[in-house]
Amino acid sequence: MPRTAPSEAKLREIVAKIPTPFHLYDAAGIRANVDALQQAFAWNPGFKEYFAVKATPNAAILKLLKDQGCGVDCSSYTELLLSDAMGFKGHDIMFSSNVTSAEEYRLARKLGVLINLDDISHIDFLAENGGIPEEICLRYNPGGDFKLGTRVMGDPGDAKYGLTPAQMPVAINRLKELGVKRFGIHAFLASNTTDGGYYPALAKILFQLAVDLAEECDAEFFLINLSGGIGIPYEPGQPNADLTAIGAQVEVAYQETIVAAGMDPVAVVTELGRYITGPNAWLVATALHHKDTHKQYVGLDASAVNLLRPAMYGAYHHITVAGKEDAPLDHVYDVTGSLCENNDKFAIDRPLPEIEIGDLVVLHDTGAHGHSMGYNYNGKLRSAEVLLEEDGSFRMIRRAETPRDYFATIAGFEVTEDLGKPELDPLLHDPVNNA
Ligand SMILES: *Cc1c(COP(=O)(O)O)cnc(C)c1O
Repeated sequence: MPRTAPSEAKLREIVAKIPTPFHLYDAAGIRANVDALQQAFAWNPGFKEYFAVKATPNAAILKLLKDQGCGVDCSSYTELLLSDAMGFKGHDIMFSSNVTSAEEYRLARKLGVLINLDDISHIDFLAENGGIPEEICLRYNPGGDFKLGTRVMGDPGDAKYGLTPAQMPVAINRLKELGVKRFGIHAFLASNTTDGGYYPALAKILFQLAVDLAEECDAEFFLINLSGGIGIPYEPGQPNADLTAIGAQVEVAYQETIVAAGMDPVAVVTELGRYITGPNAWLVATALHHKDTHKQYVGLDASAVNLLRPAMYGAYHHITVAGKEDAPLDHVYDVTGSLCENNDKFAIDRPLPEIEIGDLVVLHDTGAHGHSMGYNYNGKLRSAEVLLEEDGSFRMIRRAETPRDYFATIAGFEVTEDLGKPELDPLLHDPVNNA
């Protein structure tokens, strides 16, 4: 079940200072999900959550997560820079990239982060671009279908990531020659699943693989990375993932493999993004127009550039209308943005309460892969991000883009003072630091 949004009064208080649209993050909810994860894996002394930065690359969110004892998982040059600037150091940063550039590997080595190699060909590439560290992680791809019982959970055989089973020992032997002393294994085989069987099944595969490779290659393993993939209930009635049960079942698998083989202790780590921040933010928008043609439309001041998932994946995002949470769902609307793209719809044929112009329309579960997947099509500008604290105070943690930002990279286009004029630049406003 999607989380309840803050009250209309609270949203109106924020909107009085920060114009819609914006993503509103709930600090307490994010902390609670980190706590639940850490408690579920407390049996493993080396456990660490490496938050997937790509889900919510915001300095204030990373700071909050660092204070909770998290590390970060980066996939690019700028994510490494952001994480380093926020105080994550050395092995508190996992670098799970693919199609990695020389520049990225050089920065990763300079920062001393834990590198998760995506391909066997990257061994020599890394050796030439930054050098091989003493501890390294390898991304594994078993191929075929990934099944839980009879259910197909993922399709690794079609995924671009990772090394094949046959490549794993070859890579380990080569890395040992180049000076690697200790290894980690990573795999990401199913995405956005609330199925409690996923992590335990994945853990079993990776623990057993580590046991087998330790023997075959006479190699030492210090870390198993279960990566991301734990999903959230985007739809009403969908269950939450049961982290306590998941952690306990991973522990059973750990006992049966790692402990039984005498390899304990090995750190078990995660790289969750969606589970941590996904349910704990809302995209708050204003209803701008009604349109009554072949269908009934409500047009918002937000569009797919602010939340791409519905347009890109047909993903469901729950929608409520501030102050009308208990009103009957007696209207059916397509809820749209303003892009010149017919897939710019947050919902199609969605039963909702009657929406009036000026209503605050709230899209739920936008905290992960929401703002971060934003873009500038149709000259649209990325929105602000706002952090709501437990005591009800709030602060802007990213301002909205302005036309100046949009034009700044165009060669030969002079960014004049006019572009900063309020009438041309309705989103430019003084940073609001607190309520
Ligand atoms: C995207 C990603 C994650 C996070 O995935 P979620 O679905 O947000 O949990 C973790 N690790 C890697 C390598 C990723 O690409």
